[in-house]
Amino acid sequence: MGLFSNRKKYATISTKEEAKISETKNKIIDKLWIKCSGCNDIVYIKDVKENANSCPKCGFYFRMSAKERIEQLIDDETFVEYDSSLFSKDILNFPGYAEKIEQSHEKAEMNDAVISGIGNINKIKVSIAVMDFSFMGGSMGSVVGEKITRAIERSIELGIPFIAIATSGGARMQEGIFSLMQMAKTSAALERLREKGLPFISIPVNPTTGGVTASFAMLGDINISEPGALIAFAGPRVIEQTIHQKLPEGFQRSEFLLEHGMLDAIVERKEMKEFLYKFIKNLGFGEVKN
Ligand SMILES: [Zn+2]
Repeated sequence: MGLFSNRKKYATISTKEEAKISETKNKIIDKLWIKCSGCNDIVYIKDVKENANSCPKCGFYFRMSAKERIEQLIDDETFVEYDSSLFSKDILNFPGYAEKIEQSHEKAEMNDAVISGIGNINKIKVSIAVMDFSFMGGSMGSVVGEKITRAIERSIELGIPFIAIATSGGARMQEGIFSLMQMAKTSAALERLREKGLPFISIPVNPTTGGVTASFAMLGDINISEPGALIAFAGPRVIEQTIHQKLPEGFQRSEFLLEHGMLDAIVERKEMKEFLYKFIKNLGFGEVKN
């Protein structure tokens, strides 16, 4: 049996529907107001949503799900998702991993930590992969690596740009070497993309660390991020504990990385779609006819 197989149904329709009803109730109460970690004020969620998922008072960026990112960047009704049925297997019998996958699946309503597919940005067709931190901290296991690789291969096949939005704690340790292998696999696929002369726009957002930073997320033809995002291999706490020194203010945040040449641009969330559109248009990619 291969690494991937189709997910079995694990809930009957009635229990799933019941779960949805209680979830909706919770969401209505939760969904009206949210506490902002930037200014500690209670803000109206509707205002946050209308403000590209940032605080209307202080501009703090709330974490976005992969679905929200796709909704924000891809033209309505043009996104076609691929490989959504791939799900991770506990190939090493790692204690607790199978349960963790199930829990994350329920919580994030995704089969793994990335959504990939094809869609239009102001009518220009792109292949896109967007990670979701709510699924096991956006960790990259076999499925994440495979889906990203296939998304790159779709770019090659169709001759269209590849865009990846990464957010991740790094490699998925529960998959051991199979997880680390994804670093090489995604990087090798990007090399094939480069040979075809097709662009890769990488957007690591807050937070992107470990094996994802150390592989595809920093291999963009341009690497761009949002203001204040933490992008690192080892995080600041680990480094401070190792070298017993205090790190400079703003270390590993996107502004610091831009200044030191690790990033090419910092783009406000609200401006991201327009930025991507202008970039790929300037490279000569044209609009598709409906
Ligand atoms: Zn705020």
